[in-house]
This record gives sequence, C-alpha cells and structure tokens, in this order.
Amino acid sequence: MNISKNTVVKMHYSVMDKDGNAIDSSFDNEPLEFIIGTGFLIPGLETALIDKKEGDTFTAEVPAAEGYGERHDGLMQAVPKSMFEGMEIEPGMQFRATTDEGEQTVIIIEIQDEDVVIDGNHPLSGIDLTFDVEVLGVREATPEELEHGHIHKEGGCCASNEDCCD
Ligand code: ZN
Repeated sequence: MNISKNTVVKMHYSVMDKDGNAIDSSFDNEPLEFIIGTGFLIPGLETALIDKKEGDTFTAEVPAAEGYGERHDGLMQAVPKSMFEGMEIEPGMQFRATTDEGEQTVIIIEIQDEDVVIDGNHPLSGIDLTFDVEVLGVREATPEELEHGHIHKEGGCCASNEDCCD
C-alpha cells in the first residue's frame, strides 16, 4: 500500500543540517506514527512521503521554507528583565510564551543589564534540513482516527493519547 492522504504511517527518521550535523533521530527510540494530512509533520517531509511504501528508505532535502519556516528578525526582541522575576534564567533556556501569534516557544538569547533578548523563531527555522527516512508500515486510517485527527493504537483512543481522555 502506498502512502497517501489519510493513511497512517509508521517511520523512523534522522535529520541533519546542510553541513551534516545531526539534529535529531528516532532510530534509538520509538518510531513516529501519525496520519498523513493532519499537519503532524513539516510540509516538505510529508510531501516526500507520498507514494512511498513499507520498507522504503529514502533521503529528503527539505528547504527551510517547507520545513520550520524562514527566520523573522521581528520575532527577536528585548523584554524587561522584570518579566522573569523569580526565575533562574540563562541563555539557551526555552519557555512557552503567549504572544500576539498565539502560544509559541521562545528562547533566551542574551541577558543584559536591564533587558533579556528573546527569540520566538523556531530553533530550526531558516535551516535547510536533510532527512533519512525508513518507512516501517502503512495502513488506512480508521474513520474514528480521522474524526479525532490522531492515531489509535491497540486499546483505542484513551490508551494512545494521554490528552484525549480523562
Ligand atoms: Zn482519539
């Protein structure tokens, strides 16, 4: 069976930047399993998976624009240190912040006398990525999975998705 929209794909991947620096990999962990077409993956990687099948291995070059987006200088800003009162902060620290764009991850770049420089760009924005992918399995999504927008492992919804059922 070939991968298309609304199929469930199980795969391993590793990803590196243009210079061959390893960024992330699933090979030592659980594979990813997700429904194609739900926005689970970055667009460029999802496109590369279409028409592949179980057992396929391939390399996909994903430019930043089809990955985590280009960098926007406007997302870098200085905020008053007082915003972090009571927090131990250091450069490189990430936290969730509510902004005009909604919830996003923000990274502390630099701590100055009065201000803290933060960056709301995704850490992988502006980076062209190379993925090595191994397709472990492909199946149709069930109607229930499509309705929920996520996969159900053995045991159904609540066994698969911690946030789904209380
Ligand atoms: Zn569900």
